[in-house]
Amino acid sequence: MSATLTQPNPTSATWMPDSWRSFPVKQIPSYPDQAALKTVEDRLSSYPPLVFAGEVRTLRNHLAQAATGQAFVLQGGACAESFGEFKANIVRDTFRVLLQMAVVLTFGAKVPVVKIGRMAGQFAKPRSSDTETVNGVTLPSYRGDIINGSDFTPESRIPDPARMETGYFQSTGIQNLLRAFSHGGYANLHQVHRWNLGFVERSPLSNRYRVMAERIGETLAFMQACGLNAASAPQIDETEFYTSHEALLLPYEQALTRIDSTSGEWYDCSAHFVWIGDRTRQPDGAHVEFLRGVRNPIGIKVGPTTSVEDIKKLTEILNPKNEAGRITLISRMGADKIADKLPPLMRAVKATGQTVTWLTDPMHGNTTSTQQKIKTRSFDSIVKEVKGFFAVCAAENVPAGGVHLEMTGQNVTECVGGAHCLTEEDLGNRYETFCDPRLNAEQSLELAFLIAEELKS
Ligand code: PEP
Ligand code: MN
Repeated sequence: MSATLTQPNPTSATWMPDSWRSFPVKQIPSYPDQAALKTVEDRLSSYPPLVFAGEVRTLRNHLAQAATGQAFVLQGGACAESFGEFKANIVRDTFRVLLQMAVVLTFGAKVPVVKIGRMAGQFAKPRSSDTETVNGVTLPSYRGDIINGSDFTPESRIPDPARMETGYFQSTGIQNLLRAFSHGGYANLHQVHRWNLGFVERSPLSNRYRVMAERIGETLAFMQACGLNAASAPQIDETEFYTSHEALLLPYEQALTRIDSTSGEWYDCSAHFVWIGDRTRQPDGAHVEFLRGVRNPIGIKVGPTTSVEDIKKLTEILNPKNEAGRITLISRMGADKIADKLPPLMRAVKATGQTVTWLTDPMHGNTTSTQQKIKTRSFDSIVKEVKGFFAVCAAENVPAGGVHLEMTGQNVTECVGGAHCLTEEDLGNRYETFCDPRLNAEQSLELAFLIAEELKS
């Protein structure tokens, strides 16, 4: 991964990492100090990439398998990572819960689970409004730690390019830890199963989940008896784990875009997988222009306002050669809308002949506010949307490719419901998100068991 090739081979003759700059752009701040911005961009462009193109290609192949039902994707992590949470235990706990969920889902789906964290770079947030008003004072909105600060002061809300460099270095630290956990023995299947047994014992619904946990345990014991151990089967002791974030802050993404020395193609080396959010997916906009030229697998959020025409244009622009694994469509309709809104879009994509991977994001269409104006989501509506997704996929004869979740390994109280019956009154106990409410560790595992039941039936 370096610029050793003298003849770059961009995806299109007219595309370059900076060509997005002449397109209409949304959600990107205007930095007051342009010289400082340029200095940071130049430095970032000279730093090592965070991921290697070969890994990105492997993920693309796994996503292609998910498109045909031969793999299932589990993508999860915080809505927004924050600089203050740059701590080993926070990374470890989210990673651990994702592994625990993956074991349960593998058992349910009977196919490999592709694990992707919303981690090591998920720092920029699109906002519905450019400003925020509190007690009559209006300030620019908080846009994620890589752009400005969350404190409600005028100084904190000024976009600061130095934050991009902090985001880069934090991403390297998190990526490094994730690689160490994935390959250093922490991901041992027997250990992960023991953690799951602990979850089942603590759950008020342990009778319901115990049967599946015991069957997984028996399967692991059988594998061990057959001689499958870490020495003979590395999958017992290590795992593949990929990183992802919304490719929102284009100056940062551009600075980390490099030519792969083995293929001569451009890769956005800030993460393995990047996605376009619901607010920046205009077919003629800067974000689509940027992503069209990089070879990473690309996610596109698909919401209730996405039209058939848009989705056709987007898949054509972003995947002109119809490569499986290139496009993942992430449906985020809302529990009450999915049955109506998703089928026409699935049919339209099918009619184009495109092979895409469909995921469900049951979070972003189900955000509500309590009377005290605290953002929350109910576990029931999340489960309802996931079930709705499986039902639509079955009716349309489209493989359900996986789930995209906002969750954490911490026992926060941000989403209501679940086996422990968190109520609106409980939200005040540990409400720590800087943006959207996340499933806590127990709720995430419970959801994995429910999805596994669904997959088996
Ligand atoms: C997100 O994934 O955090 C997000 C903002 O989602 P969407 O673009 O679907 O609203
Ligand atoms: Mn979010």
